[in-house]
Amino acid sequence: MDAEQLCSQLAAKGYKMTNSRRKILNSMASEPDWMTAKSLHDKLLQQNVHIDLSTICRNLDMMYGLNMLCRVDKERNGTFAYRLQDMQNHHHHLICLSCGTIVPLEYCPLEELQERQTKGFSDLECQFEVYGYCQACQRAVKKPAER
Ligand SMILES: [Zn+2]
Ligand SMILES: [Zn+2]
Ligand SMILES: [Zn+2]
Repeated sequence: MDAEQLCSQLAAKGYKMTNSRRKILNSMASEPDWMTAKSLHDKLLQQNVHIDLSTICRNLDMMYGLNMLCRVDKERNGTFAYRLQDMQNHHHHLICLSCGTIVPLEYCPLEELQERQTKGFSDLECQFEVYGYCQACQRAVKKPAER
């Protein structure tokens, strides 16, 4: 999906196409890497584009909510990294702790839960990430020495 398609998607959902919104979308559409709000902010600054970090945060979160972006807690510290949606269906990600590679994972624990029990909760959302070592890293990685 390119920036123009994303823009018209947003417009179709009733979102105003502000200048900063368009810049953020353009930047995300041309960016193959996972970006945090901070790294996107820095990238835009390098291009002399000044957008508040909080505006970037809000827009990334909004676009994630609309399923336009994928989101992972890559460093396991609550700082989300985003990229353009890499799969059509709802999915999660495998994250390599060594090289940082992120792979889409076609599995959602919520589906199973909904078949069994939800304790009366509605509008369920899930945040689910799996961490480990990718195949390329398994040979290279040295496990920490046992104490
Ligand atoms: Zn994804
Ligand atoms: Zn790896
Ligand atoms: Zn899910």
